[in-house]
Amino acid sequence: MADAVFGLADRLKIVQTRVAYAALRSGRLPEDVRIITVTKYIGVAEIHALIQCGIMDIGENRVQDAWKKYQAIEDRVKWHMIGHLQRNKAHIVAKFCAMVHSVCDMAVAEALDRAAEKCGRKIDVLVQVNVSGETTKQGIHPSEVATFVKSLAMCTSLVFRGFMTMAPLSENPEASRPYFRRLRDVRDAIVPGFSPHKGGLHLSMGMSNDYEVAIEEGATMVRIGRDIVG
Ligand SMILES: *Cc1c(COP(=O)(O)O)cnc(C)c1O
Repeated sequence: MADAVFGLADRLKIVQTRVAYAALRSGRLPEDVRIITVTKYIGVAEIHALIQCGIMDIGENRVQDAWKKYQAIEDRVKWHMIGHLQRNKAHIVAKFCAMVHSVCDMAVAEALDRAAEKCGRKIDVLVQVNVSGETTKQGIHPSEVATFVKSLAMCTSLVFRGFMTMAPLSENPEASRPYFRRLRDVRDAIVPGFSPHKGGLHLSMGMSNDYEVAIEEGATMVRIGRDIVG
């Protein structure tokens, strides 16, 4: 129904408005929360349309697909790798991604680091944390975070910027709240007194079904696909 009424630009505007209000509810400014538009469902033409609407950040979860789209779109937007990253694809990601949200394996991180160095690039990375304990979810256990972050410091072409998580699938956005809170606790244990303006650590959490709750719990980046691109 909504698809017949609203185009891409309208859908984006609605999401931006909801994000802005959620940010204000959490005592922050709309610009303190960055929308990563997840474009895994759409092709280059639609991405161009989104760029016309002013989007700045694109999220893709498959390296090969993202790399193909990058050939056409290049650096008009920032590219975020949000999906599971395999070691043998790190050299591709290193060529074009500004941020990798899904780092949770030191061997993969080291491969990405070496590849980034070869390209003469620095890559921002988020550590993916499995806060739900679901065995189907990627991410390190919260108890391993401090050690993992310390090891990451040896990767001199990677810049540690914060954490990412995915809540268990649910129809009810409120069901995600405890998991988002847990990720915020993980972050606060590493850097207490977080402020996004002082080079603090990002929280990448919240998708189409639960991004408002995520922002209320402190998300600084939300990864939104279906709600924008249909
Ligand atoms: C697809 C995807 C999203 C976006 O999900 P939507 O439900 O389409 O908003 C966010 N994060 C990751 C890791 C994804 O793979």
